[in-house]
Amino acid sequence: MTRPAAPIAARAAVLRHELDQAAYEYYVLDRPTLSDVEYDRRFRELQEIEAAHPELRTPDSPTQRVGAAPQSQLRKHPHLVPMLSLGNAFSGAELAAWQERIQRIAGDAIARSGFTTELKIDGTAVCLTYDDGILLTGATRGNGTVGEDVTPNIRTIREIPLRLRTDRPPRVVEIRGEVYMPFDGFERMNEQRAAAGEPIFANPRNAAAGALRQLDSAITAARPLAFFGYGAVNADRADMLPFRSQWELLDTLGEWGFPIAAHRRRCRDLSEVEEWAASIEHTIRPALNFAIDGGVVKIDDLALQDELGVVGGREPRWAIARKFAPDIAVTRLLEIGVNVGRTGSLNPYAVLEPVEIGGATVQLATLHNFDLVATKDLRVGDWVQVKRAGEVIPQIVAPLVDRRDPADPPPVTVPPTACPVCGTPVVRDEEEVAIYCPNVACPGRRLESLVHFASRGAMDVRGLSYARIQQLVAAGLVTDAADLFALRPEQVAALERFAEKSATGLIGAIAEAKGRPLASLLYGLGIRHVGQTAAQILARRFGTMDALEAADAEAIGSVHGIGDTIARAVAQYFHDPSSRRLVDKLREVGVNFIEPLQADSSGVLRGLTVVITGTLPTLSRGRATALIESAGGRVTSAVSKATGLLVTGAEPGSKLETARQLGTEIIDEAELLRRIGVAAVS
Ligand code: NAD
Repeated sequence: MTRPAAPIAARAAVLRHELDQAAYEYYVLDRPTLSDVEYDRRFRELQEIEAAHPELRTPDSPTQRVGAAPQSQLRKHPHLVPMLSLGNAFSGAELAAWQERIQRIAGDAIARSGFTTELKIDGTAVCLTYDDGILLTGATRGNGTVGEDVTPNIRTIREIPLRLRTDRPPRVVEIRGEVYMPFDGFERMNEQRAAAGEPIFANPRNAAAGALRQLDSAITAARPLAFFGYGAVNADRADMLPFRSQWELLDTLGEWGFPIAAHRRRCRDLSEVEEWAASIEHTIRPALNFAIDGGVVKIDDLALQDELGVVGGREPRWAIARKFAPDIAVTRLLEIGVNVGRTGSLNPYAVLEPVEIGGATVQLATLHNFDLVATKDLRVGDWVQVKRAGEVIPQIVAPLVDRRDPADPPPVTVPPTACPVCGTPVVRDEEEVAIYCPNVACPGRRLESLVHFASRGAMDVRGLSYARIQQLVAAGLVTDAADLFALRPEQVAALERFAEKSATGLIGAIAEAKGRPLASLLYGLGIRHVGQTAAQILARRFGTMDALEAADAEAIGSVHGIGDTIARAVAQYFHDPSSRRLVDKLREVGVNFIEPLQADSSGVLRGLTVVITGTLPTLSRGRATALIESAGGRVTSAVSKATGLLVTGAEPGSKLETARQLGTEIIDEAELLRRIGVAAVS
């Protein structure tokens, strides 16, 4: 073997030190400073170095150990059988590599056994010893061989039976499982703590681990802890346990009175495991009331589990964690920015030190409003937990209050008293949490209003991007929406990054937008509370801008589907002199103020129920819907046997598959336009 280069040995030493420190903060202090992704990355790097240079593997390397040694004042508890960690597979390929490794040891027995898959609960592992069916001790995992005795605390968890519900209990059995804190209890507890001025917990895992290791069990009792069982061992082979497979083990734990996590499955092979994992990650996980960080895949046959044994004293060979992309990370809050919305609302957002969450780099997170900033007590300079679940915009879960420097805590965030763009003092609506810039001429509001006006759901001016609007505003060519329609090609062509062709193209797109239905215009005006649906209802009911302008709040409120808040906001909008001026200007430049007649009952799509899926190349959803309706069709959201036509675009959803299965006719945008072309023109 070649001698490892000195830099590699040094790197391994650095990684060992960093991982040790992180594990101490995570397991002993319940206060991680590294994100799990970063911990896992460094752990892997060390594993790879040690695999290539086994002489660098020290007996105390984090890759050879479980957790961290217990350090609290709690009594030590030696485990009958070591409590292990789990190896990780982050992909189907890594899972297949695991199977190959164990097949080299056990051959076909793996296929004969199959797998039991379970949720990987993100809590803290405990070991419960039952003597003749009576709960004797409860202990944490600690370093795997010695944990901490937390029996009085365990007794406060109502879900854990003090006596097994069986007439023939094993003489001694250790039940393994996870103590966790459900999301709802966690949030309620944090709210109460925040109200009492106490520091809030970073996440349910740390909260559960901290609660369990309290010296005063009255504190544990007050925390909403729960339990799931997933394992049972016994050191005395003569005292047989009444199950032969992991599946039966779980059934038995259930019979003995332990809660067992739902969604387990018996899988014949890894393709079934992967299918299960995908459904858990994408469908089940978002709806759970507790945190999971993956699934656990276990060899079902317990005798085979024994035969496969343990790797490096740390991980069983017979089980592996199929981890999911994490959706939470810890990073630094660098700044609280304020964005002036089109309605004048001042919206705070967080500028973060870039952090990777679930494969994407996150730098900004929404903060909604300043009330929320105050409730969460977010301060610039804080370490914060950021969550990015599914497609949702990143959000800050909570600051890590413990990590503030007590000697020099960051200053409390104070909401602005003046608009950051125009300096006008802010106002606050009694009924709402947001603060507003009341100045309709505020350049910040104007820019956002223009962006909204030109957006797809509104006037859909193709090619008019945010950057281009900024350019037009900066050049003094546009101050409000009506100015767009007065633009001349040579004015636009003179701007940087515009050529004659692109300028003409933009002017053409603006001219085309002039004829959009009243509903698009109403939505585009950005009247407070008026979304696309309300705009459509108002346009259909009143037919013209003039009729709506003339209506009072009462008349508007009497329309089915329009509530008082919207009615008041609309009436107020038309009452305001500056919005009246804008409406007059739009009229002068020839923008369409009329809603086209309702569905054409003789149209080519008459009687047809149409569903749209995916992004259409040129039409917005609203536009496509209006066109279909104008041709007599009815647009619905779900594909069923009643669906006559599916219009599909880029990245279609599951609707496409359903339509295929049902034999529904499927067309694209071009075909839709071809079919309704006649109706659209007539
Ligand atoms: P692990 O959490 O990845 O897996 C083992 C644990 O899974 C078991 O001890 C058990 O508690 C739990 N588990 C949940 N459901 C289970 C089920 N159905 N069957 C079996 N076990 C189940 O391993 P670990 O050794 O506890 O921790 C390692 C992980 O912890 C790392 O991958 C990392 O993500 C995190 N960690 C983070 C830091 C940090 O600084 N952020 C430090 C140390 C560890």
